[in-house]
Amino acid sequence: MATAAEVAQLAERPEAQLQTTEFRAVRPQIVGPDSPESPFPILLAGPVQKGFGRGGKELGCPTANLPDESITPISSVAKPGVYYGYAQVLPPKDGKTELCQDDIRVHPMVMSLGWNPFYKNEILTAEIHIMHEFRSDFYGYDMNALVLGYIRPELDYTSREALIEDIEVDKRVALNSLARPQYAKYQEDPHFDFSCTVATS
Ligand code: ADP
Ligand code: MG
Repeated sequence: MATAAEVAQLAERPEAQLQTTEFRAVRPQIVGPDSPESPFPILLAGPVQKGFGRGGKELGCPTANLPDESITPISSVAKPGVYYGYAQVLPPKDGKTELCQDDIRVHPMVMSLGWNPFYKNEILTAEIHIMHEFRSDFYGYDMNALVLGYIRPELDYTSREALIEDIEVDKRVALNSLARPQYAKYQEDPHFDFSCTVATS
């Protein structure tokens, strides 16, 4: 049986808009107020899940998926769409990993909060693309994220090229928006772990 929260999500579910060239032409390059406003910042944390493996890497934009139970802090207060903020991948406790020290720093990210086709679009899913070139995949690793602002609604795409183009704009908009001092300071937020290290290999 669906929980009350799931029922509420369904009731609020908006129709995805069809992407148009007009929308793209007028997209702002920086979004949100000068400092994060309620409900932001939103804290998320959980182990990275395996998704369908489709789309992400193929589109040049792999997304680390959070488990369903980790997304309530955002799905309960925010609508589907694309968001920006910071994220950090944490190394395993024993420090044994393919990742390097630079990989486990706090990096800018874009996040898609969307309907999960696996559950017949009845629940939301949160997928984070970290703007950093990682040495290897990090499935199963814990990830911390701070969501600081909203970029745009979830859209339906008529072409793969349009989607790729929009993702590129999203990344630029996120970087511009995060460069403002009241956002940049969250890169040092205590939600993140600045003491973790990896064994050098
Ligand atoms: P899936 O459907 O399994 O999520 P993706 O194609 O979206 O597949 O790839 C996601 C995986 O890619 C992540 O779980 C992570 O291990 C890896 N990855 C590599 N680089 C990044 C990155 N910059 N941001 C997010 N995930 C990345
Ligand atoms: Mg993914």
